Parts: sequence; structure tokens; C-alpha cells
Amino acid sequence: MNIRNGLLLLAFLMIGVNAKSQNTSVWHNKQCAVVLTYDDAIDADLDNAIPALDSLKLKGTFYLIGSSPVVYKRVNEWRLAAKHGHELGNHALFHPCDGSLPGRGFVTPDNDLSKYTVSRAVSEIMVNNTLLKAIDGKDLRTFAYPCGDRKIGDVFFYDQLRKNFAGARGVSPGLQAIDKVDLDNIDCYAINGQSADYMIDLVQKAMQSHTLLVFLFHGVGGGHNINVDLTAHSKLLHFLKQNEKSIWVDTMVDVAQHIKEYQMAKGS
Ligand SMILES: [Zn+2]
Repeated sequence: MNIRNGLLLLAFLMIGVNAKSQNTSVWHNKQCAVVLTYDDAIDADLDNAIPALDSLKLKGTFYLIGSSPVVYKRVNEWRLAAKHGHELGNHALFHPCDGSLPGRGFVTPDNDLSKYTVSRAVSEIMVNNTLLKAIDGKDLRTFAYPCGDRKIGDVFFYDQLRKNFAGARGVSPGLQAIDKVDLDNIDCYAINGQSADYMIDLVQKAMQSHTLLVFLFHGVGGGHNINVDLTAHSKLLHFLKQNEKSIWVDTMVDVAQHIKEYQMAKGS
């Protein structure tokens, strides 16, 4: 190696070290951030997911549909979950999805987002915020788009809700660097039958790339046609616990607030 090549190599190594130190400092000096989210307010959240999280003192975000009978019937258990540090997120009052899209045969005329006005969508989501505040007393939380649908016609309805939320979770998969996270549409990996190895591999990829990893679960050990095996879920949680010195596991609202503060400070 001649001197010029040697200097070039040194320069690359220094850039690498600098980039690494910047990236690891952004997630409270841990390698990455991981958020566990659970959609649709189902019994399995309270029966399986929350006991598993509580047993390891991990926090999750539960996106509640206000009209779900599981919210009505088990309101005290949701309140207790919030008291234990879990986030009750907003997943709209009636979970409307765009019935005009392909594969949406399950959408009923009443809950067809494509037939909504924007103001109706916004009002129903705000009513759900009122309901959630009555349960947990909190003013700040995150939103998750039902079916990942962000638009009514040409209008992004969250534009009228942004000031009321710390962020909004979408459904597109992706690991995101802190400055690249779109707080209006936070990426996540939807889990449906994948193994513990697959999920742990995602966490390791996030650790290596110093990124945000968000999991999206529905059923945990049953309770929904989109499901994760109870043992696989438990293995993931144990891996996160065993590596808690290197992984920041927190609710979507706390991680989104942290990202917002970082992005505002950086002017991005
Ligand atoms: Zn949903």
C-alpha cells in the first residue's frame, strides 16, 4: 500500500468511526430502538401480550378501536395496562378502511373510508382520543392508520390531526435512521406467522444499522386471523430483555417524541 492509499484508508476509517458514534448516541446511547405495537383491541392483547410484556417489564403500544366490545367490556384492564406504562394508541373509532382498493371485500358500506368525508374521519378519530383520555388520562399518544389507508380521495386526512398526536404508524416495512423517520407514516414490520428467528434477525439488523424497528402484531397466541405464535413472541421479548443494554424498547409515543425532538433540533 502506498502512502496515498494508506491516507485514503485512514480517512475512510475515521468517517466510519464518526458515523458510528453519531448513530449510536441518538437512541439514548443504545444501538437501536424497538417498538412493539398491537392492533385492533382484542382479548389476546389483555390475555397474552400484556402479561408477557409485564413479566419482563417491557412496554408496548396498543392501538385501540373505540367501538371494539373488548374496550367496553374490559375498560378497567386497559386502564391498568396504561398505568403499567403501556400506551393506548388511537386506531380510530370504527376502523374504516378504503373499500375501493383491491382485496377489500371485507369492508362494509358503513365503514368504507372512501365514502367518508375528511371531516367525519377527523371527528371520529378525535372522539376516540376523548375516549382514550377518559381511560388513561393522557393528552399525548400516537395514531395508527386502519388498514394503512392514509387518503380520502386526494386528501391526506392526518394533515388535520398532526397537532393532536406524537406521530402516526403506517404499515410499510422498513428500518429507519432517526433523521429519516416520517412521523406521519412510521414504518413497521407486520408479523403474521413468522418465526422467532425472523423477528430476532430484524432486531439484529436494526442494532447493526442503528435504526428504528417497529413490530406490528394482531393476534398473539390466537385471537385474530393475523397471528404470531405465543412462543415466538415470548422468544422475541426475552431476546429484547437480554439485550436491553443495547436496545431501547419503548412505547411508540415516547420514541416518536424523541424522534420529533431530534429532528426539530437538527432542523430536518
Ligand atoms: Zn387494524
